[in-house]
Amino acid sequence: MQKIISDVVVVGGGLAGMYAALAARKQGCKVVIICKNKTGRSGSSVVAQTVHRVAKQDPLNQKLYYEFFRESGRFMGNPELIKTLISEGPSAVNHVISLGVQFKKGIETLPNGGEIVRYSCEPRIGKLLTSPVAEHVRNSDICLLENTMVIDVISQSGKLNGLVCLCNNEVFLVIAKAVILATGGFSRIFKETSNPMGITGDGQAIAARAGARLTGLEFIQFYPYRLSQPKIFDLNPAIFDQGAIFINEKKERFMQNFPKAEQENRDRLAQEMFKQHEVFLDLSGMSQKDLDKHPILADLVKHGYGSRLKMQVTAHFSMGGIQINSECETDIPGLFACGECTGGIHGANRLAGSALVECAVFGPRAGRSAAIYAQKNKAQISTSPAIDLPPLGKDDIHTLVSSLRQLMWAKAGVQRSENNLLQCRSELLGLSEKLTHLQPSSYQQWFEAKNMLQISKSVVESALARRETRGSHLRIDYPNENMKGGDMAIFRSDTMNSLSQS
Ligand SMILES: Cc1cc2nc3c(=O)[nH]c(=O)nc-3n(C[C@H](O)[C@H](O)[C@H](O)COP(=O)(O)OP(=O)(O)OC[C@H]3O[C@@H](n4cnc5c(N)ncnc54)[C@H](O)[C@@H]3O)c2cc1C
Repeated sequence: MQKIISDVVVVGGGLAGMYAALAARKQGCKVVIICKNKTGRSGSSVVAQTVHRVAKQDPLNQKLYYEFFRESGRFMGNPELIKTLISEGPSAVNHVISLGVQFKKGIETLPNGGEIVRYSCEPRIGKLLTSPVAEHVRNSDICLLENTMVIDVISQSGKLNGLVCLCNNEVFLVIAKAVILATGGFSRIFKETSNPMGITGDGQAIAARAGARLTGLEFIQFYPYRLSQPKIFDLNPAIFDQGAIFINEKKERFMQNFPKAEQENRDRLAQEMFKQHEVFLDLSGMSQKDLDKHPILADLVKHGYGSRLKMQVTAHFSMGGIQINSECETDIPGLFACGECTGGIHGANRLAGSALVECAVFGPRAGRSAAIYAQKNKAQISTSPAIDLPPLGKDDIHTLVSSLRQLMWAKAGVQRSENNLLQCRSELLGLSEKLTHLQPSSYQQWFEAKNMLQISKSVVESALARRETRGSHLRIDYPNENMKGGDMAIFRSDTMNSLSQS
């Protein structure tokens, strides 16, 4: 088994991973990025709308943003992580600008009177954000191992010392003093999602198998602004200030009695949309002048699609994930995490424009912490670990993954109940059993399916444990918010093993 040796290994080539790698390199460490696809051209980062929202730097606006942030997350967000995000947000955005990203800037007022600054690229295309950052990575001597999947981390004597990787069905080891997981969320476990291929919860599953805690997995943001027909396209919510509305299949408007109508908090809006049989976007109240400000919509109307603009709620962002502190340390010495694979900042709902700031703040923090750790520790080359691989064959993994995603959407998606969750859990156990007997042609597909199943089981357990409705977690059998804040379901691999056997 071939071995590669490095100080710091970053897993993931999205924004969090790239920021982490640049920071670790700046500390003088030898750095490797391992990415399932292409660095800077994969993950949710490259499809993001580029919106960053940060509080103004004065103490009053920082305090008001903090209060708004905690309230939106229904008081489940970790105060230490939120304070770090808010206080370092402005300088983190300046750092992104220093890497060559060009932003348009605007000021917005929060419902509590606080003022925040919004930065976004023009047009809002993720590539305009990821490409300049990736260029810095490629111009550095950071080593890139692309089209390579990390399948597990190796920890011996309670310390992390490497990773097991996969490329073209070949398994090899990478020995590292410190590892940063930056593998993104897990929304691909749901049939309807805005997330690209590959966002399968690998980092969360790897961390849990290594014994690290996961937190808040029941909180998944379902996005209400995705047009699904005749074209997949994410709406700019500004159209609702210009006369656009949502209507159902009976042509009834269903959001007018909510305080913010079609701009209600994403969790509430998604839940109301999900209750309708079908939801359409009605642009008839917009003036031609306003419509022309949104060329894609104007074009669809011009071509006669005005009455057939169909919406689809989609799984968008994983609020839960690997538990970290503000230094991005996990429970395993030497294992760090940043970006969407972590949990605890957003609580039960995420504010728009906060995820990219999270990458910009915690990516560099993870890079610095891992570098400091690597400089104090040796890479221990120990005996090669035994790796369980399924026999290769020609079995189709795709059908099993489709069943899993369909099941999670139907029974553990926007709307949950104990009956549905229990049924889901039992069907997931059946799918796990099935997977163990499959002989895949690609190890990568098999390991992705294994991770998706593992994370799905944990989502279901967390959703069962939370007997209340809070933020994005809607339990129709427990419709009120009634548990004490701070009760976050936490899963380690040992808990998950016993759950999967029960
Ligand atoms: C359509 C869309 C629009 C969005 N718009 C905004 C916005 O405007 N503002 C905002 O704040 N947030 C937005 N978000 C959320 C935000 O984009 C993400 O939270 C953020 O980009 C996540 O970055 P990340 O680096 O943590 O993960 P990602 O960008 O998802 O990157 C994960 C990386 O890890 C790699 N990877 C995964 N598993 C493995 C493995 N086992 N081995 C090796 N590599 C692996 C992937 O290939 C990828 O390179 C949006 C999300 C979506 C889907």
